[in-house]
Amino acid sequence: MLENEILYDDGQHKFFFLGWEEKEEEIVQTNQYLILDGDEGVLLDPGGAHVFPRVMSNVAEITDLSKIRHIFYTHQDPDVTSGILLWLSICEKAKIYISSLWVRFLPHFGIFDQRRIVPIPDSGTRIRLSSGRELEVLPAHFLHSTGNFVLYDPVSKVLFSGDIGAAVFEKGKRYRYVDDFEKHVPLMETFHRRYMSSNIACRRWVEMVSKRPIEIIAPQHGAVFRGETVKKFLEWFRNLKCGVDIIDSFYM
Ligand code: FE
Repeated sequence: MLENEILYDDGQHKFFFLGWEEKEEEIVQTNQYLILDGDEGVLLDPGGAHVFPRVMSNVAEITDLSKIRHIFYTHQDPDVTSGILLWLSICEKAKIYISSLWVRFLPHFGIFDQRRIVPIPDSGTRIRLSSGRELEVLPAHFLHSTGNFVLYDPVSKVLFSGDIGAAVFEKGKRYRYVDDFEKHVPLMETFHRRYMSSNIACRRWVEMVSKRPIEIIAPQHGAVFRGETVKKFLEWFRNLKCGVDIIDSFYM
């Protein structure tokens, strides 16, 4: 197992990029993140059922599972949410945050008790931590899912972007950080052009997140952007033609 990486640590507040499988996955590669604020843990898109044992041991290396109080889901895709029942059973004190649009689908995962589910309204919400700090849940609708959110941490200035900024590595060529943005673009292009809904949605989102200071953009697949590559990514995404912009190309 590759080690957990620390993206931010001021002693009180920590942002972890959790480890990867030693062996490259045959399935869609995913990233998981953990915020630890004092003793309170927040898990971000902890992933599908098949990665659950690995992610659980990544988390257990850092903190006790009972300290996980919040689990945030950007959207409903299986690589994001299919482990939800396992996480609910092992993190007994955690609440699940997911778009209000997807809450009614949770019984299909076997979740009938909605007491630990926090439906996120379309305009987003804040996750208030016991230290008084807050995490911002911001809208990212149609990027790519109908009910889609990202999470901004104002302490670490890390933006967890879900599928926005996702990359698909060639086999044997994965890396944790984007160093050469231009070389990274081809790994993002096919996915973004096909999954993201339209340039209108991209632009609106970039406008919103750009009002915040961002040190790091951490996506759910691929590599993490930091420093200069953050700006380069936002500029690339702002100008991206995708989805309905290029609808004719899907009807040849
Ligand atoms: Fe997705």
